[in-house]
Amino acid sequence: MNFLDVIGQSFIVKRLKQIIESQRIGHAYLFVGPEGIGKRTITDIFARGIMCKSQGHRPCDLCRSCRQFNSGNHPDVYRVQKGDKSSIGVEQIRSILDDINLKPYESSRKVYIIEDAHAMTVQAQNAFLKTLEEPPSFATIILLAEKSSELLPTILSRCQVFRMQRLTREEVCTIIMRHFDMPKERAMLFAGLSDGIPGKGLQLAGSQEFNEMRSDVFKFLEEIFGYNDIDKMAQWELFNQYKDRIDEILDMLVIWFRDILVYKEIGDPALVINIDKLPLIEKQASLFTIRRIRSIIESIERTRRMLKGNANYQLTIENLLLGM
Ligand SMILES: [Zn+2]
Repeated sequence: MNFLDVIGQSFIVKRLKQIIESQRIGHAYLFVGPEGIGKRTITDIFARGIMCKSQGHRPCDLCRSCRQFNSGNHPDVYRVQKGDKSSIGVEQIRSILDDINLKPYESSRKVYIIEDAHAMTVQAQNAFLKTLEEPPSFATIILLAEKSSELLPTILSRCQVFRMQRLTREEVCTIIMRHFDMPKERAMLFAGLSDGIPGKGLQLAGSQEFNEMRSDVFKFLEEIFGYNDIDKMAQWELFNQYKDRIDEILDMLVIWFRDILVYKEIGDPALVINIDKLPLIEKQASLFTIRRIRSIIESIERTRRMLKGNANYQLTIENLLLGM
């Protein structure tokens, strides 16, 4: 994987290439964006690039440094991860501080990659501050964080910050098709559900569990509007079965009714996310008024808020079902 293979994030890629080419490498960078957005992919290329020994394009993926990096055995790369723990503690940061003044072995630089930097405890962040401000000239620290709000302002002010952007649906689709052998129409479906986060799109595309849940939800959507109140209430079983994943179910329902709304208002199938269900979208679009669809979407969102507020699960879901 090299800069050429990166889809999206064009501003960041351009800037990182400039940094590598100019050899004016800063001492601390922070990459911010939700899980699955591609922080690790992009920072790995960047880290490899600043240590690469080639005189041509960097990273070259051929020199000893690049090869060692790619095999996960580079002696000058130090990676900190949260692992199974809930946070990165002060001991993990201290082990960096012990190492950072030792000269690099292989490259002219050493790189410290702190994944899950948002999970550093306040003590860990404080322990890191001085080093982050003035690391030895050969060291570069790269922080990856899901949210910058979890980091102390003093940490933020010492880093060059890159905010990763959500991708377009087409871009996520391209990434999915690189990983899975599936028709574009299907990849577009997962891309539409990914919220612009390629990691999420890939996870959905590869998850049998998700696909089973989705077919159950569609069976429900096909039938619910023909039911009387008693049959509607009986659909509670589906929501009980997926109680742990209720947020995903509600997301699916909202996206479904938005699809119907968009189709009814604009009539362009290209804007529909559940593209594989177009006949059902057409059918339900002719069944409901725009007002009715909006009111269903509102009731789903209300259900979500109530469940977040710890309302009784069964009663809240039954209310939703009766309103459909
Ligand atoms: Zn190289």
